[in-house]
Formats: sequence, structure tokens, C-alpha cells
Amino acid sequence: MDVTAIIESLNAAQREAVCADEHDQLVLAGAGSGKTRVLVHRIAWLLATAGHSPHDLLAVTFTNKAAREMRLRLEALLGLNLRSMWVGTFHSLSHRLLRTHWKDAQLPQHFQILDSDDQLRVIKRLMKDLGVDDDRFPPKQAQWFINGQKDEGRRAAHVLARGEFERGMAEIYAAYEERCQQQGLVDFAELLLRALELLRDTPLLLQHYQNRFKHILVDEFQDTNTLQYAWLRLLRGPNSCLMAVGDDDQSIYGWRGAKIENIQRFTEDFSGAKTVRLEQNYRSTGTILDAANALISHNTGRLGKELWTDGASGEPISVYAAFNEQDEARFIVDLIQQHVQDGGLRRECAILYRSNAQSRTLEETLLRQQVPYRIYGGQRFYERLEIKNALAYLRLMVNRDDAPAFERVINTPTRGIGTTTLEKLRARARDEGQSLWQAAIEMISGGLLKGRAATSVQAFIQLIERLDEQSLPLPLHEQVELVLNDTQLMDFHAQEKGEKGQARVENLKELITAVRQYDPALPVTMSDDGEINLEGRAALEHFLAEATLDAGDTQAEEDQDAVQMMTLHTAKGLEFPLVFIAGVEEGLFPHQMSIEEGADRLEEERRLCYVGITRAMKKLYLTHAESRRIYGRDNLCRPSRFISELPENLLQEVRLRASISRPVSARPQVRHQGMAQSQAEEVGLRVGQQVSHPKFGAGIILHAEGDGPKTRLLINFDEVGEKWLVLGFAPLTPL
Ligand code: ATP
Ligand code: MG
Repeated sequence: MDVTAIIESLNAAQREAVCADEHDQLVLAGAGSGKTRVLVHRIAWLLATAGHSPHDLLAVTFTNKAAREMRLRLEALLGLNLRSMWVGTFHSLSHRLLRTHWKDAQLPQHFQILDSDDQLRVIKRLMKDLGVDDDRFPPKQAQWFINGQKDEGRRAAHVLARGEFERGMAEIYAAYEERCQQQGLVDFAELLLRALELLRDTPLLLQHYQNRFKHILVDEFQDTNTLQYAWLRLLRGPNSCLMAVGDDDQSIYGWRGAKIENIQRFTEDFSGAKTVRLEQNYRSTGTILDAANALISHNTGRLGKELWTDGASGEPISVYAAFNEQDEARFIVDLIQQHVQDGGLRRECAILYRSNAQSRTLEETLLRQQVPYRIYGGQRFYERLEIKNALAYLRLMVNRDDAPAFERVINTPTRGIGTTTLEKLRARARDEGQSLWQAAIEMISGGLLKGRAATSVQAFIQLIERLDEQSLPLPLHEQVELVLNDTQLMDFHAQEKGEKGQARVENLKELITAVRQYDPALPVTMSDDGEINLEGRAALEHFLAEATLDAGDTQAEEDQDAVQMMTLHTAKGLEFPLVFIAGVEEGLFPHQMSIEEGADRLEEERRLCYVGITRAMKKLYLTHAESRRIYGRDNLCRPSRFISELPENLLQEVRLRASISRPVSARPQVRHQGMAQSQAEEVGLRVGQQVSHPKFGAGIILHAEGDGPKTRLLINFDEVGEKWLVLGFAPLTPL
């Protein structure tokens, strides 16, 4: 086998790690210094020169996608088929162990994996069966508690419960353990814990695997939690080697139990381990790298390292202050279009953001301009569970016979309507050829539902009727707000502990924003002032139709050239020539919660920003908005402290107000009240221009769509906020 191919593209420090003798190694190095490359080449080296077979190796990656890519790269490098090699995430590898040794793990052969939603459902049902008060012990907190304990490697019997609350939680945990065992269910944290116990308690098996895996290699080591670290320590046998590669500055999962300390522990626990440091960065321009170094130097307690590059210093980092999030999205999408026009590929562009909810405006702008995009590690906005729940209520208000909507929300949030009742409704609907709604009404009035079921179904029906009636006169966004509050959907998701619940609430609030900014392309009523009227059911119907179509649009095909969108967390380990980080504002990034929670969390946010910046190879844009309507509220925003922590000489402010200011595409063909035709021609309304309106006062044109007098303008008025106006009818005077 050709060994030169494996080592020729490495620098001296990388080569040292790749060609090292068989001992433990810690590769501690900054972003883009080739850690992942070293890991891959080390495997190739072991296979090509040290006489190892793929069977001897175990590689742990951070995502399944990274595992697939690693295998492909190795196959290309070595010209071998490596299907038999164990490469995967902690979860997928644990699953593999449990599947193979289900009996020893005391599992049924066809045990099922519980995802997070299923897990919650199991916990709820269990609590109901036990008669636990879910106000005192919210199911979502119980879920958080159970997973947290498992991540620390603690079974229910070992929980050290302090106080009544924790004792209650520990009891739920114990009951949950029992039920999962009875039903052959395994949640995510359980996969790891069970695999660990399997090895620990079955000496022969442990010996077998310790002997088998001569080399264990782990990427993104800084984000391993207690349980994962214990798993690695157990599996590494007396005659095997562990190679961990990581970067303390990129530890971003502390909130989920990851322990940076594992890096320090490594050299203590594996006393013969050698530490290799890589300092040359091959990914980014000098400018990007200097910015990243400067930013991260604001953190304390770092293990300390600097990165350098001998590449070009490249272009400055562009910072764009947008008027608002729409303007921000347009700025980004315009630049991507420009990049493509100049012969670039869409997939070279990545848009990164702190919170999932931010994707909505970006998605809409991409859709409108017909730019294919793909969201990594997440769903499109209108496909998210909480959004589908909300839309189902709205759909039911518009059409009571909508069966999928009915089924989706009749017991969400939980109102004690079980599957038996639902089955009865379904049977009746089927037999009588009715809708579920109709069946429900008739079964109640006919006394065919009894007791609690009857009361609950009745209450549900009344809820929908009342919402329909009360919301009708309201503007669309208030209709949605009413529904989210009165159905308790918002509270329901808010109870979900941790990032997930928070993200769901953020998304629901974002739905209110979406509706507020909704701009129906179909004819709608218009007031004398030229303002588009969004009241009534018609607007809601249009909105729902578009949201459904939006969700129905499939993600760009795997091989289609598409813009890449993802949260900063998901971007870890990846690289793109052109990177946009959107929403670099105080309260959004750093996230409000981390500001409130103190220095450690704030440092974790800074590391996340470091991760974001170091994804960029050639050009980096940071954008922030002066005002942002997010989570349903308008906020005046200040640029993030992270921007001010970057050296000024590396930054370039983009003054787009002047440069994107393009004429509104066509002049009005009709005379309109405020401005004579000739005047309009003379002055020419432009995006970015100040205007005044007799009713709404002064404002600025943010966006224009369409042609001629029907051109629709999005104007941000100082007093009343954003409004869509129709050019031909709106009495606008340029200022
Ligand atoms: P991260 O911390 O973001 O995970 P990393 O340290 O794992 O980064 P890699 O992704 O392995 O870095 O490498 C970054 C980029 O630099 C890749 O495009 C890689 O191919 C390239 N690279 C790494 N080492 C070299 C080298 N010696 N010569 C040329 N290119 C290199
Ligand atoms: Mg990497």
C-alpha cells in the first residue's frame, strides 16, 4: 500500500501524531488545524503500515454524517472496503453493542429506541398511572432529571435525592426504569449507560472487546460527558491505545453535561499519554484567524494556544447593520445570489444562527427568491412539531372536519382523552361516514361517551368554538396569539425543560411574528389608506395554505447545489468558503439566558462564536439588526459584545443603505393622492428611503415587490412599526 499518500499532505506535528508508536495520545489543537485530518490519517496509517485490520479499530465521531464521511475518506485513501470497521457516534456504537449482546444486556431481542418525544409520552402515561401530581412534578422536568442522572451514570437506586422534590423525581425515575425494562424500551441516554453496564458486568465480553479494539480514536473529545468518558475508559484495554482529538476552546455542550475537564483528566488517567499540539491552521485566511484568536482570548482558564497560518490575510470581515431581520435576510440572500452569479456554488455558502427560530425569515427570503437551501440537523420551520400543533388548531377553526388536525390536537396539550375514546370516535366516524368532529358532537349528545371522556371532549369542542368566535374580529397575529395562549399550547411547550422547550417556545412566538409580517399575495381587502387588511378568516386561510405548501416543499435533494443553513452548534467540525453569522446581537448571541446565568455560560457562548468564526475559509460576514421582531416581539437590538471584542482593523462595516438602495421596480401608472405622477418620477421611491404618510407618520422603505401601481412596499414607520402598503394607493411623500 502506498504510504506516501498518507503522510505527504501532513505537516511535521501532524505527522508525529499520525506515525506515532502505539501509545495513548491527546491531540489538543485549535480549529482548522487538522485534528480530524490527523484522526483519519492515523487510521489509514495503522491499517497500511502497522498490520492492523479494520476489525481492530473503533472510531467515535460526533455525528452519523461525520462517520459516513470518515469512512468514505478512508476508503478513498486506502482503496479498501471498510464496511466492517466500527465508526460511529457514542449512541450508534452503543446500539450496535446492545443489538449484538441483547441477552447479556438483559434486553429483549427487538428492543426499541425511544426518541425524546416518545420518552416524554412514556413518562406522562406512567405518572398518570401512578397518580403523581404533574403540577408538582412536571413530566418534562422528570424527563430532564432522568436523562441528567443517566448522563452521570446514575441509576435510580443510586440517586442522592435531597429534599422532597428530588425524592419524588427519583421515584418517578425508578418507576420509569421498571416500565422501560418491561416494555423493552431504551432511550438515548440508556443506550450508553446500558452498554457501559453490559461491558462492566460481563467480564468475558469486556475482555473480548478490549482485546479486539487495539485502537480507539475519538473526535471532538472536548464535548464528551461523564458517561461517554467512562465508556471510553472502560473499553480501552490494557494493551490498546486511545487517541483523543479536541479543542477546549470549542467546548459548546456544557449545558448538556459535557465536561471540558475530561481533557485535563485524560493525561492523568492515561499516564503514558503524549500530548500533541497543532498550531498551523489550514482552513481560514489570516484575518479570520486573527479575529478568532482575539475573540477567544477574552475567555479565562483556557489551556492556551494560538493559531497561525501562512496563507493570505484575505478580505476583512464584513459587519452589516441591518434595519431589521428582513433586511438582514435580504442582504444575505442577495450576496449569495451574487456569489452564484460570479460562478460560485450555493453549497459553498453557509448561514449560521444561534436559535432555530431565526431560520424562518431566512427561509422565507430564500424561498421567495427561489434559492434552494438545506437545513442541517433540524427541520424546516413549518415542519416543526410545535408549529404543526399550532397550525392544527388554526386549521380546525377554519374547517372542523379536518381529521388530521383534529387527531393532532385533541389531546395536545394533554386533556385526558385517551386512545380508547379516540378509537370510539374513529369507529363512529367510519360507520356513519362523518367527520371526527361531527362524530364527537353526536356521541356526546347521544350519551355515547360517558364520564371524564365526555367532559373532556365536550370541553375541547367548546374551546374550538369559542376560539373561532373570539378570534374572528381580531387581526391575524392576534388570532394566533389567542390560540397559542388559550389552548395552553405555549405553556405546554414552555414546561419542557432545557433547550428543547425553550426552542419550541421561541418557535411558537416566531409564528406570531410570521403571521404579523404575512403578506398575502392573493387579493385581500384594502383600506382607504392603502393598508392591506389582514382581518377575518380569508387571511387565515391564505396563511394556512401557504404554510402548508411551504412545509410540503421538500428539502433540496442531496445532490442539488443548495445553501447550507444550520445552528452554530450543528456547524461544529464543518467548513465553508463563505460564512454568514446572522443575528450577532446582545440577547440573541450571546443568548439572553447565558447572559443571565453568569460567566461560565457566557464563556461557552463565546466559544460558540469562536466555532462560528472558524467555520469560514475565505470570507466571513457578521450581521446584526437594529430592530428585530423575534419570538413575537419587536426588539431594539444592540450589536453583540462579541463584535466589539474583534480588532477593529479586521472589520469592515458594510453601508448597505446606500448600496442596496435600488429604485422601486416600476413607477406608479396612476396618479395618487399624495404625490403627483411627475413628482414620483422625479423623486423615485427607493428602498432605504424615508417617506411620510398622513396617517402613519414618518418611516423608511424596507422592501418593494411587484410592478407598477400594484408594487407592494414594506415600510417601517417610526410610530406604528412595519406595514405593507400598495404604492398606487398609499399617499406617500418622500422625505
Ligand atoms: P475543527 O476544530 O473545526 O474540527 P480540525 O482541526 O478538525 O478543525 P480539519 O477539519 O481536519 O481541522 O482540517 C481543516 C482544513 O485544513 C481541512 O480542509 C483540511 O483538509 C485542511 N488541512 C489540514 N491539514 C492540512 C495540511 N497539512 N495540508 C493541507 N491542508 C490541510
Ligand atoms: Mg475537526
